Amino acid sequence: MEERYFYIHTFGCQMNVQESGQIADILRRDGYLKTKDIRKADVIIVNTCSVREKAEQKAYSLIGRLKDLKKGKPGQIIGIGGCVAQQQGEELLKRLPCIDVVFGTHHVRRVSELIHRSKACGRPIVETSFLDGDETINIDSEDPPDEGAVSAYVTIMQGCNNFCSFCVVPYLRGREKSRAQENILNEVRRLTAKGVKEVVLLGQNVNSYGRSSRNGASFPGLLQEIGAISGVERIRFTSSHPKDLTDDIIGCFGRIKALCEHIHLPVQSGSDRILSMMNRQYTRNDYIEMVGKLRAAAPGISITSDMIVGYPGETEEDFLDTLNLMETVRFDGLFSFKYSDRGGTLAARQRDKVAEEVKSVRLTRLQSLQDTHAREKNKALEGRTEEVLVDGISKNANHDVTGRTRTNRVVNFRGAAELIGKTVDVRIIKTYRHSLRGEKI
Ligand code: SF4
Repeated sequence: MEERYFYIHTFGCQMNVQESGQIADILRRDGYLKTKDIRKADVIIVNTCSVREKAEQKAYSLIGRLKDLKKGKPGQIIGIGGCVAQQQGEELLKRLPCIDVVFGTHHVRRVSELIHRSKACGRPIVETSFLDGDETINIDSEDPPDEGAVSAYVTIMQGCNNFCSFCVVPYLRGREKSRAQENILNEVRRLTAKGVKEVVLLGQNVNSYGRSSRNGASFPGLLQEIGAISGVERIRFTSSHPKDLTDDIIGCFGRIKALCEHIHLPVQSGSDRILSMMNRQYTRNDYIEMVGKLRAAAPGISITSDMIVGYPGETEEDFLDTLNLMETVRFDGLFSFKYSDRGGTLAARQRDKVAEEVKSVRLTRLQSLQDTHAREKNKALEGRTEEVLVDGISKNANHDVTGRTRTNRVVNFRGAAELIGKTVDVRIIKTYRHSLRGEKI
């Protein structure tokens, strides 16, 4: 039988990466082989993201280029998934008629069926409805992790009820749904049986896990159960909403051995006025207090965050409050973005937009401050011994391996492939902005 190939391009967050893994598995079961050569592919899937303007534009640009590719390969199927597919639906076909399948965020598991339907009827298929039941979240997955994978993503919830004024997620991924605890635990057991050592729990707001299901499940309870599974050496999670970070969750750090000392806790702004306009439901003082509790529960915990500059109406004073918050907290890492309008959100309708040049200057100032903090934080690790879970061969030198500390810092050191999957003590000998150099003890 002639071999058939699929190619997937993923934009955006870890959630999309995880869903692309599900799509790959479905297509494999349908007889397709994965290829990295897009020209060879019989099925091309573009998994899109529209949380930020840049990722959305990149997705459009890639899809536009696929048109010419398809001309040279009749019968090729182009499927578009993710948030742009959910948001645009039929409109995508008008803009880019080369598309065969548009599948929204609740139809990831139906990708194969939709491809077959499109082939059978010779017309494009669009499926972007929201499903009420739990079938989209209670995935009884048989997805194998990538060969030799040390770490794997596990979705524990999807959707969001928070409606932060700048964010499209609640409109594109629907209301919050939590996956059944037993379903998650089964997946974690399957992953550890395949050699996975670290699980990264995913959701738009993992802290509120269990609230929507009203079956008594809770995020601290879930962490406890996963921590008790034999073979789970490390647990991480993302993303956390500060308003839902309870003392109970904070108490899990230090108490659950496998839970790594790292939290990604998006603050978005250091100005109470802007936080209120963003509908974030906490103040800068609330945030600072949480950071204090986290550091008390897990000394040395790494705290990373997201920051938006130039939210509509942001004054220089608001921006200085953000810099001041950064000085107070001293983040280990920061993802910072210029605000951009996202269609359908409250913020997009606000009139007092900040000029592009002002946003750019503020972003540069903020990133330069963060660079100083990150260097300081990394420098303080020189001479210290860190527990590193080795996850691969270094990209820069094949006699080096790479791994992560419990605080999620990348460390490269001299070592061979047999160390992959092992946790080793490494002394940090040199530090850079984004990585550390070490030597195995
Ligand atoms: S918590 Fe806010 S920023 Fe995060 S996904 Fe929900 S609406 Fe978007």
